[in-house]
Amino acid sequence: MMELKHGMIREWGIVGAGGAGFPTYLKLQCQVDTLILNAVECEPLLHKDKEILRHYSPQIVRTLKDIADMVRASRIVIAIKKKNMQHRAALKSLPDRNVELFLLDDFYPAGDEIILVNLVTDRLVPPGKIPPDVHVLVLNVETVYNISRHSPVTHTFLTVGGDVPKPVTVQAPIGALIGDILTTLAYDSDQDKAMLVGGVMMGNLGSSREQPVTMTTAGLILLPLDHPLVRKYQRKSTTVTLIGSSCCDQCSMCTDLCPRFLVGHPVQPHLAMRALSMKNWEHELSKGCHYCSECNLCSLASCPLDLDPKEICHDYKTHHSSDIMHLDDLPLTQKKPYADERRFPLSRLMTKLGLNQYDQPAPLIQQPMTVTRVSIPLKQHGQHLAQPLVETGDQVRTGDKIADLNPPGPGVPIHSSINGFVRSVTPTHIEIRTTP
Ligand code: SF4
Ligand code: SF4
Repeated sequence: MMELKHGMIREWGIVGAGGAGFPTYLKLQCQVDTLILNAVECEPLLHKDKEILRHYSPQIVRTLKDIADMVRASRIVIAIKKKNMQHRAALKSLPDRNVELFLLDDFYPAGDEIILVNLVTDRLVPPGKIPPDVHVLVLNVETVYNISRHSPVTHTFLTVGGDVPKPVTVQAPIGALIGDILTTLAYDSDQDKAMLVGGVMMGNLGSSREQPVTMTTAGLILLPLDHPLVRKYQRKSTTVTLIGSSCCDQCSMCTDLCPRFLVGHPVQPHLAMRALSMKNWEHELSKGCHYCSECNLCSLASCPLDLDPKEICHDYKTHHSSDIMHLDDLPLTQKKPYADERRFPLSRLMTKLGLNQYDQPAPLIQQPMTVTRVSIPLKQHGQHLAQPLVETGDQVRTGDKIADLNPPGPGVPIHSSINGFVRSVTPTHIEIRTTP
């Protein structure tokens, strides 16, 4: 059995597949007492983590134990929703009693690391801190699967769902174009549909079918152009700001149901809306939204006036760096005693978003998808652009290293995801085709 080392995990190009794509070798540079596998997957219509677990749970559990040795964790927990009985059964059948199952109700956003750590360990990650600060490490299912392969990451799992003939989960080469993925699945007649890339809650509206998928693309959800959710995503930010500043009645429903507020963080989106109406971003009121997770619950479900407090929080974070805002003076409060009663059931969220008719399983096609071209982004994680190691005309094979940080910094190398020839190298992408 191979002992895992940080250097190997960096060389395999592994980043967190469940969120912002933070380099995994850096995330593993900690010592904790509890390791949690985040198999909660609460984004509506996404099924890729469940599918990975369904097919690869023995190797994932083995790898979890290797990772636990690395970070000195004595407790290993698989957090999964109660409703996913078939996966629970698969995990229970494993001949291993050292891995605990933690079963969660079906609410959104159960997979938020801060919420999950609190539920599993009863510890509160302070605002601005990360789970290792309370001796817990949380890893996503696909990230652990990628570590289990002991080879470079070349493909990403994603669910293609929504208004499609048959939702599926696929393994697409990193850099595959969305249009090519839809064509391969014979869903290319859906040119008149809108695409939510990454999910309906935390994703964004796809701008083009020439857009490549990255290591962190968890799903492509197609919806009719006139679906209310699409209309909402299409609103211009100037409209969001103008309407928000004039119409918010300060009912505070957005705060009352905000998962981060309920767990004890100082996020109060209704105060950010008040600061917006006063046209004063610098105001103390808006500080707390620095700790907003952008789960989108307030904008897509809580606000009775259909306003967009999440976008206002996002704008605030974008324009005001945390280091100049003196956030330390924000009080850390306790988890609200009514937090559990205020969890937002996924079934209610699906109804509210008008997604019930699209709620179907998305079985994994185990054979990796083949495409004839990829456009691999050089910035797939963090802020740093990887430097190309290949030139136009070079022949490459799947898994060859084609870019890396120079000098090596907080990032990982990038590998070719198909066999082929480098067609072009730009400051942002490397295009590879199967033919010269
Ligand atoms: S829920 Fe909507 S109307 Fe109420 S305070 Fe929040 S943004 Fe304003
Ligand atoms: S998006 Fe809204 S509900 Fe979610 S954490 Fe931010 S303020 Fe709270």
